Amino acid sequence: MNSRQLVLSSIFLFLLASTVAARPSIKFTVDIRNTKSHMVHVTLVPSGFKKGNASYQMPIWAPGAYSVTGYGRYIRNFKAADINGYELPVKQLDSNRWEIKSGTTVQEIDYDVLDSHKDTTSLYFAMANMDTSLFFANATCLFGYYDDNKTAPAQVEYQKPVDWKLACALPPSSKGYVQDTNATFQNTTFYAKDYDVLADAPILSAPGLVTKSFKEGPAIYDVVLASNIAFGSAKMDSLTEYLRKIVHAETDFFHETPYDHYTFEIVAPSLTHMPSMAQGALEHWNSSDYLLGNFGWSMFKGAYLPIFSHEFFHLWNVKRIHSNLLGPFDYTKRVMTTSLWMAEGITEYYAHTLLSRYGIIGPGGFFGGGVEQWRKEMEYSPEAAKTKSLEELSIDESGFDLEEALLFYSKGPLVALALDIEIRNKTSNKKSLDDVMLALNNDAKHGKTFKEDQLIHLVEKYSGVDLTDFYDHYIKGNDSLPLDKYLAMMGLQKSAEGESEADNGTSKPKEHLGPFDVDPNAPPLATAIRKGIVGK
Ligand SMILES: [Zn+2]
Repeated sequence: MNSRQLVLSSIFLFLLASTVAARPSIKFTVDIRNTKSHMVHVTLVPSGFKKGNASYQMPIWAPGAYSVTGYGRYIRNFKAADINGYELPVKQLDSNRWEIKSGTTVQEIDYDVLDSHKDTTSLYFAMANMDTSLFFANATCLFGYYDDNKTAPAQVEYQKPVDWKLACALPPSSKGYVQDTNATFQNTTFYAKDYDVLADAPILSAPGLVTKSFKEGPAIYDVVLASNIAFGSAKMDSLTEYLRKIVHAETDFFHETPYDHYTFEIVAPSLTHMPSMAQGALEHWNSSDYLLGNFGWSMFKGAYLPIFSHEFFHLWNVKRIHSNLLGPFDYTKRVMTTSLWMAEGITEYYAHTLLSRYGIIGPGGFFGGGVEQWRKEMEYSPEAAKTKSLEELSIDESGFDLEEALLFYSKGPLVALALDIEIRNKTSNKKSLDDVMLALNNDAKHGKTFKEDQLIHLVEKYSGVDLTDFYDHYIKGNDSLPLDKYLAMMGLQKSAEGESEADNGTSKPKEHLGPFDVDPNAPPLATAIRKGIVGK
């Protein structure tokens, strides 16, 4: 190296160092060693931020949960200090936002986060549960964003009891994931490329965390489960095998695996230790979290396979395919989306159809545990909720009304089924809702979101079917869905009450699918439509 090269190299290194130093980033430390106090301590060190007064903003809602919760309500003892440890003046502007004078001198911010899992504005899996032998947190409970900058990368380090395992879907390296099916779940440092990624990766840690990892296609899957009673290895093996089948079905359906790593985080206590009666789950970018009961395998499988299938389908439908209101997110305003009939209704529909189509449960399960169950839930929903269309119920999701949600998750998938039948019937079964989902996913791969009022036109474009009437009646409008008509278009009819199988042996016994009879005189198109939907 000659002297001229040395000078140029020094200039280059200086410029490189200044560029690196100038890029804002945050380092979080979360101390979970004292969860029996129902509280954890968070420290953040910002670097590279330049503004005079700095701000810290906690989200008011969480992606997937939609309800306005205001996560700042669970923050206590918010303090900022300079490099010498002197406390800086902090003003709390509202329950979710703080302002720090002399932002350029901020060295460290500290606060406590309280347990929030009993909050009535949202569901368990969108909140935080801190107890003697369990730490679970949706990341929106722990982290805010600094200086209104949601693009700054973050490093998070957890300080945990040595005998606890810990799972988080964030990569353990700034370079990405490690392909490891023998993970010990002792890693405590994770990286997020921006706030959206950080806020969408929940954390589960416990001393007796049951874990199993598997590889399917190009990706690694971790299954981690916390319970107060044993979740035996045979049951864990069965669960993992069924999760593998679901993963196979849905990655095959979309013809892609758009991630390297996926984590199923499950809290499954005994019924007497349920922290909330509202069981269920929440989808994330490359993980999902669950509150389920630790039942025997047969009951666990029957009750929860569709929930796993639902959350995994969200990986595409809403995490990737979504309106411009659902990403990039504005965490400071209530989200007013009319498109959840698609995000939730179509997801719930496919959660059940794909289980049948890929032979994970029989088609009778789709018609009994899906269609008939949705019909009953829709019928028994409160009258006030029944006055609202799917688009109105979608907007109300941010208001968190469990009775309305019950209707939304029953009417939604039934309307999705009817929409699929409508498309298949009008195209002689040459096109289906599958074509629409694949085309929308193709748009999403190219970074496209859709405008809310364009959604139905995109469904029309990708199916080639005019759906104006259908949309006006059953999605924008609130006409009652003629389910019998749609069952007939699949070659099915309701079983007659008290009908006897015995008819003197003069005709063949009827074939049943769940609570419905297969019509032996159905036209071939109806049979083809049914086979297209459930695979049989
Ligand atoms: Zn959902």
